[in-house]
Amino acid sequence: MSLSEYTIKIDTASTSKIDQVDFENLIFGANFTDHMFTCDYINGKWENPKITPYGDISISPAAKVFHYGQAIFEGMKAFKDDEGKIFMFRPQENIKRFNKSAVRLAMPEFPEDLFLEALKKLINLDREWVKPGFGNALYIRPFAIATQSGVLASPSDQYKVIILLSPVQSYFSGEVKVEVAEKYSRAADGGVGAAKAAGNYAAQFYPTNLAAERGFQQVVWTDSREHKYLEEAGTMNVFFRINDTLITAPTSERILDGVTRKSLIKIAEELDIPVEVRRISIDEITEASEKGELKEIFGSGTAAVISPVSAISYKGIEYKLPKIEEEKKYSNILKQKIMDIQYNKCEDTYNWRVEVK
Ligand SMILES: *Cc1c(COP(=O)(O)O)cnc(C)c1O
Repeated sequence: MSLSEYTIKIDTASTSKIDQVDFENLIFGANFTDHMFTCDYINGKWENPKITPYGDISISPAAKVFHYGQAIFEGMKAFKDDEGKIFMFRPQENIKRFNKSAVRLAMPEFPEDLFLEALKKLINLDREWVKPGFGNALYIRPFAIATQSGVLASPSDQYKVIILLSPVQSYFSGEVKVEVAEKYSRAADGGVGAAKAAGNYAAQFYPTNLAAERGFQQVVWTDSREHKYLEEAGTMNVFFRINDTLITAPTSERILDGVTRKSLIKIAEELDIPVEVRRISIDEITEASEKGELKEIFGSGTAAVISPVSAISYKGIEYKLPKIEEEKKYSNILKQKIMDIQYNKCEDTYNWRVEVK
């Protein structure tokens, strides 16, 4: 169906909550803007796309999402430049990934053009909520849930897509210590690790809690067969710097194809930073650390952009990362460059910015 077949109805909020929000002290993902987008899948088609005041929704307690976890989501951001223009960062990538996740979870795909139009209309309506300045952003949370009532274990025939907007600031996670997974797995071959399935996160909480009890904030997920190759860090993709080379695992059925990850690879290449996309084993990392060649480890994802790691633990031994001058850290250099693009501070050679107007 083409966009002309859809009209997004808009019902604006009579009052704004914006004055009740302390934009200097935001907790990530805790505040939402005045409006949200919803659209329902009924009788085999997407119907009734609309923007309404943000608020609770009512669904059956027998809705399949509660029983079988048929749910997917996305995470993306919009940024405001110093002139008040708002840009989304590579939204088409998130839209395509949303539909890839939908296919894997036996859910209907959402029309790409309607998705983009919904994002633009919704963000434009709540544009006051996007604050300029490095670190300030609008976190965008599209998701889809199975809404058909009934506990028969089969795919739902009804779904709801919702898009929420949340003003955020960049968060400094501080020193993140990570522990290499030796028992649990986030994803397995043939599983749903490459999809943004809600259940992937639920399955990660328990092993992450166990790591936290031992003093580690995140788990570095390994391949599920041998627990030997390093694949992701918490809910982020992961990069390792050995000497001057940046290494990250190739995407696979177990690894989420992160937009931040692939953007950083491009930026690194442009900055003449040697990048290798290949499998990387824990033995290579511990050996490099012992030789003093392991310089940096960082996670990459939309929420924190880049999250530097201060130590990695494996089989009870902690390998500390060396102190490097701030301006020489790849994590800082790459973060600055990607933010320059996001906030319209430099040329956008790859056409990654999409203006909201
Ligand atoms: C969303 C996600 C990422 C990061 O993807 P971005 O597009 O960079 O935000 C990485 N790993 C997992 C498991 C994720 O769910």
